[in-house]
Order: sequence, then structure tokens, then C-alpha cells
Amino acid sequence: MTKKNKILPGGIIDKPGSSKDYKTGSWRSQRPVWDKTKCIQCLVCVNYCPENCIPLKEDKRVETDFDYCKGCGICAQVCPVKAIIMKEGK
Ligand code: SF4
Ligand code: SF4
Repeated sequence: MTKKNKILPGGIIDKPGSSKDYKTGSWRSQRPVWDKTKCIQCLVCVNYCPENCIPLKEDKRVETDFDYCKGCGICAQVCPVKAIIMKEGK
């Protein structure tokens, strides 16, 4: 391979714990709205959230951390009682 065609390595994380520096909430175009009165605290959303941004407090989920929620909608899809709906906007 010539130098011109050399592909630079990608996906390298040179510092552990750096994900906290990237506030993926700025990517969001939709927001999950959680209805705590419908929630049965099954924690399925917590386990499926790819950003790990649905915090637990005393073994119960609490409000989403919107600094990191990127609005993917997975939590709304997996919730068995439809306690999360996605709304347009940040
Ligand atoms: S929308 Fe996506 S990133 Fe945000 S809380 Fe739900 S699963 Fe997590
Ligand atoms: S999946 Fe739905 S019912 Fe289960 S903890 Fe999350 S919001 Fe609550």
C-alpha cells in the first residue's frame, strides 16, 4: 500500500472514561417523555438504553439524564406498559 492510500486507524480510545466528555444529548431531535404514574419499574428501559442514561435511585429508575440521552427511542419501544413516548424536539 502506498503512503497516499494508507488508511489511518480509527475508533481508538486513548483515554479510559472519556465517554463522559461527549454529551450525546446534543444529537437529540426527539425526547423521551416518561410517565411515572404508568411505570411499573421493570427496568427494561434501563437495560436497553445504549447510553446508560436512565439512572437508578434505590433500585428504581428516575428521570432520564438529558445530557446524554440521544433520543434513539429504544426505551419507548421496549417499555411493556407504554410509559415512555417520544416527542419531537430537544
Ligand atoms: S431515547 Fe435512547 S438514549 Fe434516550 S433514554 Fe431512551 S434509550 Fe436512552
Ligand atoms: S420499561 Fe417502562 S415500565 Fe419498565 S421501568 Fe422503564 S418506563 Fe418503567
